[in-house]
Amino acid sequence: MCSLLGLLLPAIASPADDATTRHLIKRDGRNLEVFVSTQFKPSMRDNLLQWTENIADALRQVYGHWPNRHWQISISPTAASASDPIPWAQVHREEIDRVEFFTSSVASTAELEKAWTSYHELAHLLIPYRGWGDAWFSEGLASYYQNILQARIGLISEQQMWQKLYDGFQRGLAETQYDGQSLQTVSAGLRENGGFMRVYWGGAWYFLAADTRLRLQSGGRQNLDDALKKLNECCAQQRLSVKEIVSQLDRLNRVLLFRPLYEEVSTATTVLPFDTIFASMGIDIVEGEVRLQEKGPGAKLRREIASGVGLAADL
Ligand SMILES: [Zn+2]
Repeated sequence: MCSLLGLLLPAIASPADDATTRHLIKRDGRNLEVFVSTQFKPSMRDNLLQWTENIADALRQVYGHWPNRHWQISISPTAASASDPIPWAQVHREEIDRVEFFTSSVASTAELEKAWTSYHELAHLLIPYRGWGDAWFSEGLASYYQNILQARIGLISEQQMWQKLYDGFQRGLAETQYDGQSLQTVSAGLRENGGFMRVYWGGAWYFLAADTRLRLQSGGRQNLDDALKKLNECCAQQRLSVKEIVSQLDRLNRVLLFRPLYEEVSTATTVLPFDTIFASMGIDIVEGEVRLQEKGPGAKLRREIASGVGLAADL
């Protein structure tokens, strides 16, 4: 769910009243149904379908296939912001998971494709989250993977990916008015009190820490993609709380990492320091800019985050 921008938007068309055209996209024996509002002109519907195929393919860059056997995307127009091609989107955890996008009526496929929102929304589907409680965890997952997905399809470089993560953490740190409150507390009061950057990027820290710890402690044999894929194989049809998710991740991957890290991050009273993690991945920060080291074990593991290990064989 991505309420970040949507809270501010008036007058969004109701999808319930909307006539749509239905399209089926198949990949790896899995089905994606796409519903496009007939309020869009036919040429715009073509743009939207091309974009949908492209972002749906980006989502295959984590497990080698979509997280769901059957899922849906619905797209409706909004005039809310001419400058933003996708001003609002959200995930509905229903019997069939559905991602709902509200887009500009005139954006090109390329403009739509560059908007981070779609990668963020689709990344939410990577876990069988029940849709409420510990929002920081779900938003952190989406904030971490939105950048990874863009790097893996070549939309941004590895350098840009790390810069975007760095910039995100800085935005989280800049919300100092929430310092001293636990992430859990800020997350629970998000809609009433704000604190989106703290929640999204404080949460993204969890996934960066989990991913890098897994890779470092196993010498590259384990990683977050595979850990989440095991959860997907076992529990994709379930609706789990975050505590259930982290316990399952530890059990399925035979580690004691996800649950303790959950305790650490949910009670943290600021975005936790990431310098040590960046250094372990061969990343230097010089005056706010990330510099990637070419050599060393950290650099190899770091490149594998941006490229995806073993995916080439699957796709
Ligand atoms: Zn979100």
